[in-house]
Amino acid sequence: MNENIKTKVVGIDIGVSETNIAVVDLRGAILARDTIKTTDYATVDAFITGLSEHVVSLAESTGGYDTVRSVGVCSPSANFQTGCIENASNLPWKGVIPLAAMLRDRLGLAVALGNDAHATATGEHVYGSAHGMQNFVVISLSHGGVGSCIFTNGHPHLGSTGSAGEFGHCCVVEDGRLCTCGRKGCLEEYVSDRGIVRTARELMESSDEPSLMRDLPELTPMTIGACVDQGDAMAQEVYRRMGFYLGLGLANYATITNPEAIILTGELTETSKWFVEPMKASFDEHVFGNIRGKVKLVVSQLDNSERDVLGASVLAWQVKEYSLFV
Ligand SMILES: [Zn+2]
Repeated sequence: MNENIKTKVVGIDIGVSETNIAVVDLRGAILARDTIKTTDYATVDAFITGLSEHVVSLAESTGGYDTVRSVGVCSPSANFQTGCIENASNLPWKGVIPLAAMLRDRLGLAVALGNDAHATATGEHVYGSAHGMQNFVVISLSHGGVGSCIFTNGHPHLGSTGSAGEFGHCCVVEDGRLCTCGRKGCLEEYVSDRGIVRTARELMESSDEPSLMRDLPELTPMTIGACVDQGDAMAQEVYRRMGFYLGLGLANYATITNPEAIILTGELTETSKWFVEPMKASFDEHVFGNIRGKVKLVVSQLDNSERDVLGASVLAWQVKEYSLFV
């Protein structure tokens, strides 16, 4: 084989607690992977140093650094157009961080940076439920919050400043719960981990009705769901409300974008058996009549951490190869 042909890329998924790194070949096979703790690095400089060391050693273990073409990174609050992480509320480093340029300078490789929802949707498009689709929406229901990405005619719609798809911060309740973004009534305050737990607390405080939830040592989406499985009416109401708001948000989304499918991804889809029915009922109730029954609502079948590094690796293939001379 011509030794100048670069046959691999590196995909990096920066998460709130962990950062996953993978070397991926031309077919999308993960050749090696590694994980570092995002929270171990107080400054972004220290993070870039630690990350670069792991990228180099992973590359050396899979045929050599010279065979790596480029790097794709996804992160919360990342902007594909600027290559910057912009004011991420849930990462340790504040402000606007030119992460793509910093990592490129350290590694001497081209670096593409996309937000996590963009990489997730790209992973679903190439390897998952959206394979072969042109117009679809991918929703990320993750521990940190709710994101999304829209694909139109086979391409992501990123918006005029790269901030399209902030689904979690659509207002669904007038003067509702205070959101981490500073506004009130945002969707993610009703359908995220903390939203589900807050609904459970509010229901318990508003009545004296018995509920298995009152005896739980810790309220989490999973422990509340276990109460649903035991027939607990109040726990069922928690998930009915979660499904209602999610279905309402998705109906508005579908009414505007007319997608072939909406694909649900992220850790919170592990609770989907408790919210899918009320979500679909709410979706049908609120969606515009001409597209009712024509949008597939699908839960992703891919492993979340694997899909996101694969999605990041697709971004790596799309970036122009780095050269000092152009
Ligand atoms: Zn918000």
